Amino acid sequence: MIIEQQSRLGAEQLAALRAAGQVRRYDCAPVEVFTLAEGVYSIYSKSPGLGGDAWMHLVTGPERAVLIDTGFGIGDLRALVETLTDKPYDVFNTHFHGDHTLGNVQFDRVFIHRYDLRPLADSMTPDGRKAFIPQEADYYRPSDIPPFRPYGIVPVDAGFTFDLGGGETLELVHIPGHSAGCSGLLDRRRRILFSGDAVCCTPTFIFGPLPEGEYREYQTVRAYRDGLRALSGRLEEFDVLFPGHGYLGVPKEIVPDTLAVCGAIIAAPAQYDDVLHFGPREGLIRKIGWGSVAYSKERV
Ligand SMILES: [Zn+2]
Repeated sequence: MIIEQQSRLGAEQLAALRAAGQVRRYDCAPVEVFTLAEGVYSIYSKSPGLGGDAWMHLVTGPERAVLIDTGFGIGDLRALVETLTDKPYDVFNTHFHGDHTLGNVQFDRVFIHRYDLRPLADSMTPDGRKAFIPQEADYYRPSDIPPFRPYGIVPVDAGFTFDLGGGETLELVHIPGHSAGCSGLLDRRRRILFSGDAVCCTPTFIFGPLPEGEYREYQTVRAYRDGLRALSGRLEEFDVLFPGHGYLGVPKEIVPDTLAVCGAIIAAPAQYDDVLHFGPREGLIRKIGWGSVAYSKERV
């Protein structure tokens, strides 16, 4: 099974890091913190229900830092960030889904690609959080769930840059498909693309019905192919990817491989390698090399 193989890779990496004592835990939040690249804290947050276990990444530069995604928002994430860095920081969401944004309530404002502004704003309700976070789970207490609080959203576009000082930047790269505003941040100095759910090997999800509303044309395999084509022209700028789920340090060969998967799906949507069951939904899976995409025919 493809999914088992891919998630095994991430699970093996985690087990090896834990066994080597390369994990740090803090009292303020029930997460695990790993450092796989200099100045980068990768924060592993267990799923309380919907969505898979998710990564956040805190990237620290000479003058400023950026928190990439806010996970499920369990525990005091703000205290954690401010323990890990004494620099001023911004918060960026790779896309609007709850497993990457529920911790937004702990911060004053977040940045997100313009095309995901509306669904993020619509999800900013107490009920939106309750659907995702059960009151009880084995690794946190109800008091670890911060109260709902509205926050500011700053919409940004492809090419927007966070300046970390000393010539270090993180540049927004728009890779739609999983969501309309799905984006990564490119760290040229460390040669890492923080890719959220836009490019990952768990696989990339483009399934379920095509959503209604604006920017729906950006939520298809065709749109994903176009974004990956553009990204293929920038492969000399990074070596590895740190996604929002699963294995960290994915080789950049996943970009041409996933582009080939998109081409195969578009050429023959009825052919697939495997089926993914995700709650009530089913996704068809195509896979080539590092690339794998779970799709539904209405999203091609
Ligand atoms: Zn996700």
